[in-house]
Amino acid sequence: APQRVRKPDWLRVRAPTSAGFAETRQLMRRLGLVTVCEEAACPNIGECWTQKHATVMILGDTCTRACAFCNVKTGMPQPVDIMEPVRVAEAAGELGLEHIVITSVDRDDLADGGATQFVRVIQELRKRAPRTTIEILTPDFRNKAETAVARIVDARPDVYNHNLETVPRLYPTIRPGARYYASLRLLESVKRLDPSIFTKSGLMVGLGEERLEMHQVMDDMRSAGVDFLTCGQYLQPTPRHAKVHEFVPPATFAAYAAIARAKGFLQVAASPLTRSSYHAGADFAVMKAA
Ligand code: SF4
Ligand code: SF4
Repeated sequence: APQRVRKPDWLRVRAPTSAGFAETRQLMRRLGLVTVCEEAACPNIGECWTQKHATVMILGDTCTRACAFCNVKTGMPQPVDIMEPVRVAEAAGELGLEHIVITSVDRDDLADGGATQFVRVIQELRKRAPRTTIEILTPDFRNKAETAVARIVDARPDVYNHNLETVPRLYPTIRPGARYYASLRLLESVKRLDPSIFTKSGLMVGLGEERLEMHQVMDDMRSAGVDFLTCGQYLQPTPRHAKVHEFVPPATFAAYAAIARAKGFLQVAASPLTRSSYHAGADFAVMKAA
């Protein structure tokens, strides 16, 4: 029978109980916004929401894909909500955010892959929350990538994030439906179109990747001009999802971080609980001040 593996101590987090947490949740409910914090069952939700840091997921809560690591539901997505960009900007204003991370499900069903909604969210945020810096975390837009990326870059987010998630060897099982080199090219094209936008990418570990494969991915990212790197432990959201191959010890994360810095990333976050959007605001503030 399958056994529930006990998580090591370094992955234990406190239950979310703070007033800030409750306020953030109420605001998201009232504005009808979906967060990746909840949909992905992120272990950092207590800490992040206490600090009013949340990652908003636009374009609905239903994805057209079914990645083996992801807790977002798959199916026929909702129609695009044209008022959503305004509500996202309202949330940023009400929470007084210095930095906001916006992501979306994959919308392979839409003619533009969802790019227009990203553009509108950026425009509304600039209008209604002009001091908030904007980080977007986009899907790969499949065969619509060229136009989608060009339009989003034109709207000038501060940070453009697209996660490679894992090493290329594991794509067929972990990220079926995505292509490693297509994702790399997407990151490269952002930098080529507008070098003033910071680019960012993330990796999950504990899926069976080898260290040398990780180093190769870091090299590929640097060749594509990627500025920031995040790296965290994969956790299995439900028994239907990909199994955890190993719980990578903190010392290995420290080693990955040291190597990544040596390879020239401007900002590196690597620890068991690091997520793509974890401490994104604080890290970006340090970056801007430097
Ligand atoms: Fe949300 Fe990101 Fe924080 Fe997780 S790390 S709770 S996804 S903001
Ligand atoms: Fe989850 Fe993104 Fe994969 Fe959809 S495309 S299943 S939201 S990781």
